[in-house]
Amino acid sequence: MFEREDHFIGGRWVSARGSEFLDVVSPSTEEVVGRVPVATTDEVDAAVAAARAAFDDGPWPRLSVAERAEHLRRFVAAVEARREPALRLQIDEMGMTHKFAVENFDGLRPSLERYVADAEKIAFAEVREGVVGKVLVLREPVGVVAGVTPWNSPIAVEVSKIFPALLMGCPIVVKPAPESPLSAYLLGEAAIEAGLPEGVLSIVNGGVPVGAHLVDHPGIDHVTFTGSTGGGHVIAQTCAARFRGVTLELGGKSAAVVLPGTDMTEYVPSLVGGSLRNSGQICVSTNRVIVHEDDRDRVVQQLVDHISAMKLGDPHEPDTDFGPLAAKRQLEKVEQFVASGRAQGAKVVLGGVRPADRPTGWYFEPTVFVDVDNGMEIAQEEIFGPVLSVITYSDEDEAIAIANDSKYGLGGAVFATDAEEGIRVATRIVTGTVQVNGGPPAGGGGPFAGRKHSGMGAERAVEGLGAFLELKSVTLPPGYEPAAV
Ligand code: NAD
Repeated sequence: MFEREDHFIGGRWVSARGSEFLDVVSPSTEEVVGRVPVATTDEVDAAVAAARAAFDDGPWPRLSVAERAEHLRRFVAAVEARREPALRLQIDEMGMTHKFAVENFDGLRPSLERYVADAEKIAFAEVREGVVGKVLVLREPVGVVAGVTPWNSPIAVEVSKIFPALLMGCPIVVKPAPESPLSAYLLGEAAIEAGLPEGVLSIVNGGVPVGAHLVDHPGIDHVTFTGSTGGGHVIAQTCAARFRGVTLELGGKSAAVVLPGTDMTEYVPSLVGGSLRNSGQICVSTNRVIVHEDDRDRVVQQLVDHISAMKLGDPHEPDTDFGPLAAKRQLEKVEQFVASGRAQGAKVVLGGVRPADRPTGWYFEPTVFVDVDNGMEIAQEEIFGPVLSVITYSDEDEAIAIANDSKYGLGGAVFATDAEEGIRVATRIVTGTVQVNGGPPAGGGGPFAGRKHSGMGAERAVEGLGAFLELKSVTLPPGYEPAAV
């Protein structure tokens, strides 16, 4: 049992003053595995005030990118030193498999190094020709950032806010999801061990009211949010009312298009991983599999064979592929969607039920639907569970039309005999990222920018770092020759 009675505010542990606590229930055992305090509005205010002071008067925004990168490397090293508790706490709090936890954890350092390499490409000060005379164009840190995150990959998503904000000189207050607040305590410990300056990182726990207070706080300059489209909609309105910048990474209903005649033997693991990893609780899940009508039976058989050979079970065991869903309400939602699919005429060829041998825990068998029409609820709504729908097409235009017939546009995949053909088709899909023949998901370190109801703005890469910068043009006096910048 993980129990804390403090918050990480402004770089130190502060005793909680409120009386409300979050009880964290393990999705695999249904037992309480942790208890941490909910931040009061005063505690959120204290976190923002510490960040404000660090931005307005502290050294952080005035350090070079290289100096901030060194701080963050020490921070990552301190997180990595907590590998065992980081894996265990995330498995305990949201039921992710050990495999998925390792995959994410091992990605932390490469992710930071990608951000650092991209940051080095940014011109923080450049002289340009204006209409008349020269202009000094500056890119300055935007200010204090609020980062609000979901539960589906706690540490990885939290650092996807912390790395770029801090690297660009912006102190950040993070609010993890109430389902997964435990592992975030390790980030506080790591920040202290790494010697991050006072005020640059705070972590406040709680649900929507805590998040709402944070994003509406007058001391915040930019909000970066990952979560549901509904949550993003409310946050976007709050930010609009305050003329505050906001980056939104939201839900998805992505398509994997299999071009006619593609031999999927090599690609089935990528297709299954891309759609069902983390029991389908990934925003870029490509769970609409769009196959040519002549290939349907072959591809469905390959999918069913591959998924049937995977292991559903205790997420703590290193060889488990499918753990439980993160919350009971998530399981119930998946059951409702499966019932809706059946009622609308789709046919289950694998799964479709809770596993009979797992009465405890919020497990659901990986499920494959065929005879799915793209207009059905299971093809239009984000299920966020282990449910894959196979939809057929007769020609390429129809395949593209089906892929694009969605209110979302986050991920995507194309499988093709010829990679060039795959890339050509990828350009026709209205979405933020596309994998071709098993390329990495979610943009692979390139810009990650959801379209339509999947988001606003970009994360990652130079473009994502740009969200934490403001532009300033300094017009230079006539005849003035600036020194090299
Ligand atoms: P959620 O929107 O319910 O909550 C996400 C976070 O936002 C939580 O910390 C929550 O407390 C907070 N929150 C929700 N409404 C808020 C509001 N009005 N004001 C302030 N804070 C608020 O999402 P969830 O159920 O935790 O996560 C699942 C969703 O996240 C799915 O839709 C999934 O697709 C999406 N997601 C997207 C990405 C991406 O990068 N695009 C990545 C992971 C998850």
